[in-house]
Amino acid sequence: MACLPELSLPRLLRPELAELSAYVPHAGEYRVRLDANEAPPLLGVEARARLGAAAARIAWERYPDATAHALRTAIAAKLGVTLPEVLTGVGSDELIALLMTAISGPRASRRATLLTTTPTFVMYRMSAKARGLGVVEVPLDASWGLSLPALQKAVELGEPSLVFIASPNNPTGTLADPDALEALVVAAKDARVGIDEAYVDYAERDHLHLYRKHPNVAILRTLSKIGFAALRVGWLVARPELVRELDKLRLPYNVGSVSQALACLALGELEADLKQLIAEVVVERERLTRAVGELSGIVVTPSQANFLWLKSERPAAEVWQGLAERGVLVRSFHARGGRLSHQLRVTVGTRAENDAFLAALGESL
Ligand SMILES: *Cc1c(COP(=O)(O)O)cnc(C)c1O
Repeated sequence: MACLPELSLPRLLRPELAELSAYVPHAGEYRVRLDANEAPPLLGVEARARLGAAAARIAWERYPDATAHALRTAIAAKLGVTLPEVLTGVGSDELIALLMTAISGPRASRRATLLTTTPTFVMYRMSAKARGLGVVEVPLDASWGLSLPALQKAVELGEPSLVFIASPNNPTGTLADPDALEALVVAAKDARVGIDEAYVDYAERDHLHLYRKHPNVAILRTLSKIGFAALRVGWLVARPELVRELDKLRLPYNVGSVSQALACLALGELEADLKQLIAEVVVERERLTRAVGELSGIVVTPSQANFLWLKSERPAAEVWQGLAERGVLVRSFHARGGRLSHQLRVTVGTRAENDAFLAALGESL
């Protein structure tokens, strides 16, 4: 290949890019992959056949329905909201990005700021940084719950434009305390508050009631963690005034026809299959929690999601290595340092995958 003359970019690009790195999933061959919170492949042959048949009916030569009308209608009906309150995206990641873009203008000559917790989903930080927002992260408390006084203080001092809270939270699997979350929503009444419920199907409670009661709340959900990560379909529920503005930023035809059609099927005809899948994962989650709890050298946080948050006595990097050598891939948080240096996150897989993980963990502790 000819040698290309070098391109000089630094003076053209946003300075924030220098601080960011591209999101690269862990490469390599592993017998058991439990690192990305995907659902196990539990859909039956009949459900798979129906998905195939629906895909076969797609008008391939046509652009998708730009307004995703059928999909949004299905979502609105499911949640008991109206069509103008629903916006669909290429995963909820796209909707997180749209919110950040909409809100990135300075307020009263101050740089717009995102307030969130730590640890939490890394995309909030990445998406905010990429758009030049300031980022304030308030640490979760000792039991990985919201630290309300610290959050209220951060609202008061930082006047954030946007607040993001995940419940259940990734990577801790913990639900936000509903009273604390509502107090935060009230304190941040001049901001938009995104409540990210990517794992809500595995949890005891949701926060739709906060959306109904408080106009500054937006709820985000996705199909990615309940068996359809391949589709890249997520949605946001917010007041029509906000949805209308976000819609101006959305790329036309963002959600493809295949994704729209199969997501409609997942939320409609295949609803019972999905419920079954979720129930099976919850049963496995509880079994895995008990089994890990019996091992010494490791403590598990009770989870409301499809993954477990583990604290090992040994440094997480060493436990991660031991698992990897035995063909089991999980996520370690040691690189983040501090109290995360002993933390690992493992996705609940099939029964066989979980048994393989348990055996490898026993040997790695
Ligand atoms: C996985 C995840 C998402 C992203 O979901 P997509 O719909 O796949 O973009 C959003 N929020 C949290 C907390 C997640 O863990």
